[in-house]
Amino acid sequence: MKITKIETIPIRLPTRRVHRWASLTTPIGVYVIIKLYTDQGLTGLGEAPVLKDWGGDHGKYFGETPQTTAHIINDILAPALHGQDPGRFETMHALMDKAVKGYPYCKAAIDAALYDVVGKALNVPAYQLLGGLFRERIPIAHSLGLMEIEKAVEEALQAKAEGVKTIKLKGGVEHKRDVELVQQIRRAIGPDLNICVDANQGYPSAKAAVKIIRAMEEYNLLYMEQPVEGIDQMAEVARRVDTPIMADESAWTAQDVIEIVQKKAADVISLYTTKPGGMFKAKKVAAVAEAAGLKCNVNGSVETGVGNAANIHLAASTGVVTYGCVVPVSTPKGKGKGGIAGIYYQDDIITEAFDYADGDVIVSSKPGLGIELDEDKIKHYRVS
Ligand SMILES: [Mg+2]
Repeated sequence: MKITKIETIPIRLPTRRVHRWASLTTPIGVYVIIKLYTDQGLTGLGEAPVLKDWGGDHGKYFGETPQTTAHIINDILAPALHGQDPGRFETMHALMDKAVKGYPYCKAAIDAALYDVVGKALNVPAYQLLGGLFRERIPIAHSLGLMEIEKAVEEALQAKAEGVKTIKLKGGVEHKRDVELVQQIRRAIGPDLNICVDANQGYPSAKAAVKIIRAMEEYNLLYMEQPVEGIDQMAEVARRVDTPIMADESAWTAQDVIEIVQKKAADVISLYTTKPGGMFKAKKVAAVAEAAGLKCNVNGSVETGVGNAANIHLAASTGVVTYGCVVPVSTPKGKGKGGIAGIYYQDDIITEAFDYADGDVIVSSKPGLGIELDEDKIKHYRVS
């Protein structure tokens, strides 16, 4: 099988409600879907959930946009992979890394399409190519963006009623509000559910973060995610609080995780399919975390059903992913069970909703990523 063409399709999905976090200045859901064509008539799907204001510590990794994605894939990566065998995963990554430095979200979109098309060719699910099925259900964390406390409490209660076991709160903008939010959510949902907070680097110093986290400790946080910017500051926070610390913006690559381990800067790694440049490399990030005794969840940028399918296959095949995953329950309009748990968009571009029950996504065993595009929806939501 040989790669013959890669097509980029920018889309915009309507959100269920505004979903914001500290540092985000653009709406979520304006992403790029790719189709990777082969000489055997099989097509692989991938997604680059790019955000211009999402990057690593201190500009270490840059924001990407739908426009930069189309340019990098169409003009650089597609020509570099033309005529190649999509099943040679390591070679495909070496060719991509040689063709252009960086742009991990573009490479992750292609990586997902490689696993999709090779899985279809071999008639096996993508997880089979990633180590096999380790877990059949993926517990999800329901993420509440920055919103009024009253609304957050209401949505947390609804998510709980729909079976969600982990509530993720966004913070990092108003410190007093963050503590009050955690207090109110804990009061409302009771002692048994997990609560975690993601500050998206928003606290101004390690000292400030320590004070805020200590004030939250009586409400039993599962973890605090990326309270501050930079691995040294993260290490200072981690040293001084009992709450586990998760690295997200600080942890893109396997090399980042080595530095985090050396500096004892986190207890948990937020693993993405996208930050390291695809599932193939995410497995290597997970291997470093596991070897160092850290745990992971699978996290992301509120992808559509294409990127989320990749997230699910990564979580399904990776043992060290033991925390609830911030993976949306992708649900096309009219196809779901009528709930809001893990649902951030009003619609999706895949034909069938993810199978959701009691707080978990049930892993599909269909070949490749296990999803199909709804071409009418693609036409409808395409932006250029
Ligand atoms: Mg995060």
